[in-house]
Amino acid sequence: MLTQAPRGTRDVLPSESYRWQYLEAKMREAAAEAGFREIRTPVFEHTELFLRGVGDTTDIVQKEMYTFKDKGERSITLKPEGTAGAVRAFLESNMYADPLPAKLYYLAAPVFRYEAPQAGRLREHHQFGLECFGAKEATADAELILLAYRLLSKLGIQNLSVHINSIGCPECRPKYNKALKEFLHEHTAELCEDCRSRMDRNPLRVLDCKKEKCQLVVRNAPQLLDWLDDECKAHFDELKSCLTLAGVPYQVNPKIVRGLDYYTRTVFELITTTKDGKLTVCGGGRYDHLVKELGGPDIPAVGFGMGMERVLMLLQSENIEFPVPRLMDVFVTYMGDHRTEAFALVQALRADGIRSDMDHCGRSLKAQFKFANKLHSAVCATIGDDEAQQQVARLKFMEDGREETVPLSKVSLTVKAYLQTLN
Ligand code: ATP
Ligand code: MG
Repeated sequence: MLTQAPRGTRDVLPSESYRWQYLEAKMREAAAEAGFREIRTPVFEHTELFLRGVGDTTDIVQKEMYTFKDKGERSITLKPEGTAGAVRAFLESNMYADPLPAKLYYLAAPVFRYEAPQAGRLREHHQFGLECFGAKEATADAELILLAYRLLSKLGIQNLSVHINSIGCPECRPKYNKALKEFLHEHTAELCEDCRSRMDRNPLRVLDCKKEKCQLVVRNAPQLLDWLDDECKAHFDELKSCLTLAGVPYQVNPKIVRGLDYYTRTVFELITTTKDGKLTVCGGGRYDHLVKELGGPDIPAVGFGMGMERVLMLLQSENIEFPVPRLMDVFVTYMGDHRTEAFALVQALRADGIRSDMDHCGRSLKAQFKFANKLHSAVCATIGDDEAQQQVARLKFMEDGREETVPLSKVSLTVKAYLQTLN
């Protein structure tokens, strides 16, 4: 128990954290390129925010939230998604008074969902997410889809398909919902229990159900796309034109409705095919009424969330290599009682911005070299009796084994010049 992490959580160990750092750098770059700025919001919020902001007919709210009472008897929930917190922060800081759109991103944000753990499904996962507040035009939706698509393609992920759909607006959706409800009522007996209980309150959710018997039923259900009003249709058409112009292959998929209640018009997912089946890496859409729903002005918005573990999983399964960073520039090795001199040299090198380290475990000189090799150190700098007396260090350039003795005051310069020849 003590030495086992809670179910559905994962450690990122030093042997793999460089992969996260690489991915994070690429994500930051992609977001900055399109004018998004980072926002960080708390890991927990008032439960009420998610009840209102995610919707109480969703799986997330009904089954997956980590909710508890704090010592002050307040109901608190660990973030089950990133949007509600971003909207709350946007409102609380009056960011909407600034020129819009406000383009925000969050990176490696922990997200908690009580789900059955399996490949690509954790109880704590991390998301890269973008939110664009104040932009109603379809170009804003297209820009997000493109950004996600380019990012994943540049990372080397293949078999990527972009699925888009429009779920209309509060003008046209109720009419469709009515038709869908009528259809579902004719098939009640064939639906799963969850769908039977939610089909009256939120029939769209049935389209999204992963159970096979429900999927069979909805195959013949009326299609929302046929019920869109003129404005929603024009919005969707513009989105499609933008994607076509940008050369992004997409498919209209009427089954994409997204698990969250607050979506309007555009919804989308980026889906990959792996040897174990389909995997959704990124999901998002437009939520024009969420800001108002949460007590703010009437401000349209669009966003997406991308599961970072899923991206890393895909990269691994496609054998995409990450550049492994060199851990150490200089390992200072020493003989006998010259540990303090070695320590001084390590500190001097670090002060000059050179990664350096030494032995703290009482190893023999030979074992120190072996250890330096394990770290893939570029250079070993040895201080023995003679070196200490003459205020020099004996450098060994590990790649070709060449050696050179230089004054202690020149070690940094020599090493820097050498490292440049490596990069
Ligand atoms: P799914 O249909 O797979 O349950 P979702 O619709 O619940 O996904 P979103 O709420 O759209 O997912 O979350 C955005 C992204 O976060 C997903 O596309 C996925 O990459 C990732 N994600 C969601 N839930 C998990 C989880 N439990 N573990 C790991 N990643 C997840
Ligand atoms: Mg889910």
